[in-house]
Amino acid sequence: MNQKLISEFEELLGKSRVLSEKEELLCYSYDAASKDFMPDVVVFPLNAGEISKIVKLCLKHDTPVVGRGSGSGFSGGSLPLKGGVVVSFTKMNHILEIDEENMFVTVEPGVINADLKSYLADKGYFYPPDPASYEFSTIGGNVAECSGGPSAVKYGVTKEYVAALEVITGDGEIINTGSKTVKDVSGYNLTQLMVGSEGTLGLFSKITLKFLSKPEANSLILVSFDDKDKGFKAAISLLKLRNKPSMLEFMDKSSIESVKSYFKSDIIKIEGAFLFIVEADGSQVEVDKSNAEYKKILKEFSPVFLFSSGNEEEKRVIMEARKAISPSLRKYGDLKINNDIAVPINKIIETLSFIEGVSKTYNIPIINFGHFGDGNIHVNIMLNKDDIDMVERGEKAKFEILRKTVELGGSLSGEHGIGLEKKEFMKLKYNDYYMNILKNIKKVFDPQNIINPGKIF
Ligand SMILES: Cc1cc2nc3c(=O)[nH]c(=O)nc-3n(C[C@H](O)[C@H](O)[C@H](O)COP(=O)(O)OP(=O)(O)OC[C@H]3O[C@@H](n4cnc5c(N)ncnc54)[C@H](O)[C@@H]3O)c2cc1C
Repeated sequence: MNQKLISEFEELLGKSRVLSEKEELLCYSYDAASKDFMPDVVVFPLNAGEISKIVKLCLKHDTPVVGRGSGSGFSGGSLPLKGGVVVSFTKMNHILEIDEENMFVTVEPGVINADLKSYLADKGYFYPPDPASYEFSTIGGNVAECSGGPSAVKYGVTKEYVAALEVITGDGEIINTGSKTVKDVSGYNLTQLMVGSEGTLGLFSKITLKFLSKPEANSLILVSFDDKDKGFKAAISLLKLRNKPSMLEFMDKSSIESVKSYFKSDIIKIEGAFLFIVEADGSQVEVDKSNAEYKKILKEFSPVFLFSSGNEEEKRVIMEARKAISPSLRKYGDLKINNDIAVPINKIIETLSFIEGVSKTYNIPIINFGHFGDGNIHVNIMLNKDDIDMVERGEKAKFEILRKTVELGGSLSGEHGIGLEKKEFMKLKYNDYYMNILKNIKKVFDPQNIINPGKIF
């Protein structure tokens, strides 16, 4: 790396906010995708002015610059593919303002999702987006990936909550998008363009989010069916309700088998061919009413097991079963190809049956679970990393599953993004004309292609 650039950063930020020793850089060379790339330098800005100056120095030295929250991304978004500068947002972790009358909160991008949730919960409010990484992922990373979680079925994903952004573009200019209003149609919606842009259009320095009132209570149902079609029909009936569930997680037979041998409980049974965890939330009266209605509907489809609870300990046990899926997979292999496809809800069964076929054809375990109400399936292709033939079969299986997803009108990624992991598959869904539109949008915000180059395309 250009020593001059490092000295200029040190002058701008002070030595304590610039890392350039190999041992220090290693910590910023990987994320939750299984690849690593070394940055040349890591910098820790405190505000938009500093980020703007960092980007302008990178422009002057024609050096890539990549934003990084907690590095928990599954698609390699925060990896410095071409070396250069990693901008860590960990020191920009303050909640700046709460506007209780309008119900908006403005935060720095390095605020951890869980910290925002608990800050708001203490005041009786609720920030719904709940990626499973909420205890350690940042709001900046959540916005860049448009993260979602179980509550998306009722409350939507991150994009539903982002009202305004302060962004430093690839020119080093600071722009402010959006407003604290419910309605805003003044020009193109640059706020929503930034959401899910995977850190390729600019770096967020301030994020204004909508929040809601906290639901008073919740209850959970764990229910399983011996037949996929029965389970599907039962779940669709719940989704059609006006008071639809606030969570509708599913495990297919492969996940049920995986969890069964790993998770033991005296209270619940993990069995059947299709299993759901259903949540009702709201006031206590609403929860009781919804829970009774959900149970009545589910029973019409003859479940093999149904357990319902509003008790904290029992609810914890139900959620433990859900959390047990990932650790239970380890017995199938030490390498996981993790896909987070999304399909129209009425194509979930066809997709799962197709994946079962792919698993048999390539003789590899493929375990599926996910967010039924969003059609978002986590497809886990389990491999042994030393078995080269198996790894090749795994890659072919991934390709076939993604091709089928697109054929069924689905999306290559429901929540993890394209990043490095899926960029070669974008052509399955989009033609050259479409890809050029994306590339031209990137050029407008980042004419010198220095902001997170090599991602998405
Ligand atoms: C165990 C585990 C469970 C997970 N569960 C879920 C889940 O349920 N749902 C889900 O959606 N995801 C999930 N993820 C993926 C991941 O946590 C999310 O994508 C998360 O939003 C990433 O946040 P981060 O702070 O770690 O961002 P990073 O991984 O550091 O960065 C992600 C992207 O955001 C960009 N970025 C970061 N900060 C900024 C900024 N200030 N300005 C511009 N760009 C920025 C980076 O350049 C990169 O492209 C999970 C990951 C793990 C490891």
